[in-house]
Amino acid sequence: MLPEAEPRPEDPTLADVLARPKFSATAHVAEAIEKRLDENADIVLRRNQGTCDLTRLFPAYHKSMLPLGLSMNGAAEPGRHADSYAWHPAAHESFAAARSASPPTFASVYFPVLAAVLPKWINGFVGEREGGNDQPLLAETEKERITRRVLYLVSGYGAPVNASHAPESNSTEAMARVIKRFVDRAYPGLIDVRLAHSGNGVFRYDKNVSFVTETLRPAVARDRDVVAEAFGEEWLRRFKLTVALCDGTPARLHALMSSFRDMRPYLAHAFRLKRFWHAGELDTGDVDIQRWARAEAAPPIPYGNLESVLGKAFVGASLADERRAARDAFVMRMLVREMKTHRDAFTAAAKRGTHELTSFWLRKTRKPVLAILCVVKASSSKKPRHELDSSDFEFHRGVNLEVSMPTGSLCSERNAIGNALAANPGLTRKDMFGIAVLSLRPKDVGDDKSALLCRDVEGTHPGTEGPSSPDREKTTVNGNGAMSRNASFAHVELLAATESRAASGANGTAESAAMSADDLAGLNPLRPCGACKEWLNKIAEVNPGFRVVMFSDVTCDEVYVKEVGQC
Ligand SMILES: [Zn+2]
Repeated sequence: MLPEAEPRPEDPTLADVLARPKFSATAHVAEAIEKRLDENADIVLRRNQGTCDLTRLFPAYHKSMLPLGLSMNGAAEPGRHADSYAWHPAAHESFAAARSASPPTFASVYFPVLAAVLPKWINGFVGEREGGNDQPLLAETEKERITRRVLYLVSGYGAPVNASHAPESNSTEAMARVIKRFVDRAYPGLIDVRLAHSGNGVFRYDKNVSFVTETLRPAVARDRDVVAEAFGEEWLRRFKLTVALCDGTPARLHALMSSFRDMRPYLAHAFRLKRFWHAGELDTGDVDIQRWARAEAAPPIPYGNLESVLGKAFVGASLADERRAARDAFVMRMLVREMKTHRDAFTAAAKRGTHELTSFWLRKTRKPVLAILCVVKASSSKKPRHELDSSDFEFHRGVNLEVSMPTGSLCSERNAIGNALAANPGLTRKDMFGIAVLSLRPKDVGDDKSALLCRDVEGTHPGTEGPSSPDREKTTVNGNGAMSRNASFAHVELLAATESRAASGANGTAESAAMSADDLAGLNPLRPCGACKEWLNKIAEVNPGFRVVMFSDVTCDEVYVKEVGQC
């Protein structure tokens, strides 16, 4: 923005000339800019405070210089008064006076949020190495060469607060066209930009839901189907959707997240949106790319912190609420302690050597899964809920059984539930507190041969993929082909545990941490299989607080506490 009025007592700073169109000036300003952008518009580069190296794709963009916007061929002249723009509060008085004298004109247009998000997105899935080494491996360069990137710019407009303004005046449709010019110019041949315009109603939830489900999602689904046609089963690893959590109305963002939930999108989250506005800085470090699973997953709670974390009641909670939170937290700790005892009984039997665990009882997978079900004692079931204390609860053990191939296996969860009912025919679903599930490794019950086989299969992923690979979920399928369980959850969670361990420096490098955590983890945290889930859903119908407890590994030192619907 270069005010035309004289005199100009000092060289303008960025703050003096920077402006954003106000809400209802958006469309008009964008159209004026569009008129002045030609094919060869110059790219404005800005120093990047973060590290995000694109030199292998575009030698001109080093990690220290990234495209911020475009300069126009002659100034854009929207013809609007200075009041149509938001001006930087740090602008000098003299410029403030000058810009009001005549309608401001524009020399350049900047897209600071996009400028930080795009390089992170481009770099996000290939070439991102641990330890700050930005050099991609040879295979990654090849992957990158065949990667096709599609960017959907979603625009729309909504009813303005000021009823005298036309709704279309806040439309971002023309701005999306300008942004497409910027992306095409700044990243030529790399990104296929599509313009998805929703029309009126960006503030309305129902309008957003219809637009996203009827128009946007089918378009993205077509991109996915092309990948599936080309790569078959591999599509899951080759198709990656990222939703930018940068701006947009709450209704829009929620509609996007709900509609694309099943595609498990990555989330590009820019957490300092106005950094450029306030400080003139561009920083790719302000953008996080999160895996969906990570965004949904609560981290495990250390065993020793169970009571302090789960027993917390908020300011304003009643005394009864506080007591109940403390009791439930204590019972949770008892439940985990029971699981440790249950585990020790199995490992002790294995040490004694006289057992048929893997030769008979678990002949299919050779992997014991232990369960502990916590219920209210029969003698206490008449007490009102809030009067129960920890001594009113008892525990029932379960283990999976795989005695006969044709009859299938009996899961430990359902086994524990059966044990509890056998012990108390009066058991009701609302008397069930929760169930803990722990997977033991074959070697925990002395099955070395199988342990070796298992390590060979499962041990392939930490070394080849690296701890931050988004592909790990795929590589966790059990090589024995016998598990009926969904192990993908396990490894997404494991990843979180592994990374937190690596970050705390307890285990040297991230990779050695991954190896040792993997070694301890086995299939943990193990969520209920489809059949057990059916049973647990029926318990949750009357007892929505029924807990499912899982562990990071066989030590049981890190505990995941979920409800049935979260598994
Ligand atoms: Zn099951």
